[in-house]
Amino acid sequence: MQNITDMIAEGKGKRLYATENPDEAVVYYRDETFAFHGLKRGRIIGKGEINNLICEYMFTMLTEKGVPNHFIRRIDNRCSLVKRVEIIPVTVKVRNIVAGSLAKRIGYPDGTRLKNTVLEYCLKDPELEDPLVNLTHITAMSLATPEEIKRMEELSLRVNEIVSGCMAEINIELIDFKLEFGRYKGQILLADEVSPDTCRFWDARTHEPLDIDRFRHDLGDVEEAYREVLHRLTGNVLKNTEEE
Ligand code: 5GP
Repeated sequence: MQNITDMIAEGKGKRLYATENPDEAVVYYRDETFAFHGLKRGRIIGKGEINNLICEYMFTMLTEKGVPNHFIRRIDNRCSLVKRVEIIPVTVKVRNIVAGSLAKRIGYPDGTRLKNTVLEYCLKDPELEDPLVNLTHITAMSLATPEEIKRMEELSLRVNEIVSGCMAEINIELIDFKLEFGRYKGQILLADEVSPDTCRFWDARTHEPLDIDRFRHDLGDVEEAYREVLHRLTGNVLKNTEEE
């Protein structure tokens, strides 16, 4: 076990702890769940364990396919060791099919296939509800350099190709997702997580959501949906265990 020192950050689904090695951190995945910028809160029993395993699977696959990311290794049921990056305060949303805030913004029905992949940037500021920003805002506020933005775009599109392909094999459509990136020793690394908390996954046959939208919109069977994604990805059948 790593020697955890201070908590560095507490996010919606995770806590991040410093370790004795300044280049590393420990992510602890929680069952705690937030939606609509914290207006709706709850618990998805076992989510932390499931997301820890799904992220291990995703980051390992992305590493094998050449996408540099923060993951080092899974430590136990709820914790993973990661590289301690400096998070870039801009999230990238990648969209293949209209859903969520894009459906509201452009008035297209959920499920409309987009003619090309859409990339959106949001300022990472929960108090402002993570507003949409464009590339000129990002450089005007010195949030990231044009080179960093180009690299984040490249990596986001590559993640889309890889994860869409992998999910298609298990009859899941990747509708959209949100990514975060960080700076680490002169490189841009994919950070945060790739899980049903950050992606919209629809069953390819029924178009039923298998992600956090089940919690956001009270669709029921939330734990089952997370377990189903893990099971289809890894064959792992986890009994959900409540966080202590
Ligand atoms: P939308 O902008 O349509 O609400 O979200 C687009 C994608 O980003 C969806 O996959 C959604 O789950 C994810 N996403 C949006 N906001 C958040 C957030 O605050 N936290 C997390 N973890 N994911 C988000």
